[in-house]
Amino acid sequence: MTRPKIVAVDGPAGSGKSSICATVCKDLGWSYVNTGALYRAVGLLCLDRGLSLVEGPEIKKILEEFSESARWEHETARLFVGVDDVTPRLNSVEAGNGASAVAKMPMVRDALLPIQRKLSLSAPKGAMVDGRDIGTVIFPDADLKIFMTASLEQRAARRLKQLEKTGPKVDLSHDDVMKAIALRDDQDSQRDSAPMRRAEDAVLFDTSDMDVAQAIANLKELLRSKGLV
Ligand code: C5P
Repeated sequence: MTRPKIVAVDGPAGSGKSSICATVCKDLGWSYVNTGALYRAVGLLCLDRGLSLVEGPEIKKILEEFSESARWEHETARLFVGVDDVTPRLNSVEAGNGASAVAKMPMVRDALLPIQRKLSLSAPKGAMVDGRDIGTVIFPDADLKIFMTASLEQRAARRLKQLEKTGPKVDLSHDDVMKAIALRDDQDSQRDSAPMRRAEDAVLFDTSDMDVAQAIANLKELLRSKGLV
């Protein structure tokens, strides 16, 4: 069986990974796999059950349940846990903070590793896999690795817009969001377990001065130049 083309896209929060990759995938008939959604869902499951976010048998149980019941719908990029579509809840600040806390735990990363590989490799054509350690840990042999980034200011502005558009009403300033993102960057790049870092062979893709349409066009051009489409 031939393996689908795999493009690993890592980078910090708000760099545009999800919106850009989702559109590029839709246009190309590829699958978009948002691995942050898995961490967010596990974080939410822990919070829903009132668990403190430290490694232990309760979290192990949640991971076992999650491994058995999580399903990613490639056509719509939606995540189901059993019959529940958890996608609408994943964009909240609560889910992001929960994700960042559970993402530090080796137990969580170990449990989510095979799920990320399986979901991506089941893509019918090709998959863009978005995360923090895709090019370094999950698919070190990806057909193409991209490290997508943007200035902190730009990332905060985008995240605030996204929160206002998709989540419940938020009372956060640009400054609040900038601080929260800087903290998240720090947690993600300083943790011991699979920290966020640019793989040596990753192409740097800085979206600071691109609007969404330009970023989409440039990313498609990059894929073409690498012979992937
Ligand atoms: O990409 P997103 O912002 O949804 O990810 C939420 C959090 O999940 C990140 O801040 C990071 O802590 C964690 N994460 C990770 N590895 C991934 C994807 C997400 O550690 N591959």
